[in-house]
Amino acid sequence: MAGHERRAKLKRIAERAGKYAAVGHPKFPWRSKTTPYRTLVAEFFLQRTGAVQACGPYRDFMDRYPSFRRLAAAPESAVLAALAPLGLRHRAQTFLRLVTCLAEEHSGRVPRDEPTLLALPGVGHYTARAVLCFAVGEPVGIVDVNTARVLCRAVSGRRAAPPRPGTGRRLRVLADELASAASDARMAQWGLLDIGREMCTEEPECAKCPLRRDCAYRARKGKR
Ligand code: SF4
Repeated sequence: MAGHERRAKLKRIAERAGKYAAVGHPKFPWRSKTTPYRTLVAEFFLQRTGAVQACGPYRDFMDRYPSFRRLAAAPESAVLAALAPLGLRHRAQTFLRLVTCLAEEHSGRVPRDEPTLLALPGVGHYTARAVLCFAVGEPVGIVDVNTARVLCRAVSGRRAAPPRPGTGRRLRVLADELASAASDARMAQWGLLDIGREMCTEEPECAKCPLRRDCAYRARKGKR
């Protein structure tokens, strides 16, 4: 596919995904107000907890600790109690190390560049890029199991990402291409997450997918 055709296709996918997120996505509390602090906490909550299950604990946590200053001033035992609904004690310990690191090394401010974000305890590529895209407004792509599946299918026509070294980096490059083609990278990424969670699952339900007209995998499989 020629470069301009590929970019046009990426733009169509990005715009359709963004429109889907704008009109159809559930009202997740981390989408209504995005700051680096709120997004960082949300992505921590979502690391091993489903989005629907994370809503209540996230709302309760934000009611209690609406700012990093309030969180940093709280006793560890109170923070651990607020994280208890998520389970996984080691994750809570990582969160405490993250809070300490932000307080001691970053004056309580969440960094706004990828290398510095990646150096924080418990922060990987997905979380770092989510902060940059959702809260800072940079046109960077995010790759998790859901967006990877949608990107591989819609753009490359593959059922799943090949298990080769470097696949993660290549997917991030592709996700960045799509984000930079979008008129609203944040909505486009939310749309990819929603489509991956709701219909582009193990057995994709292409008939109700907003990307069906441009999807290379659907074209290859001749799905209706
Ligand atoms: S058309 Fe089907 S395979 Fe393609 S992105 Fe949508 S659900 Fe996934």
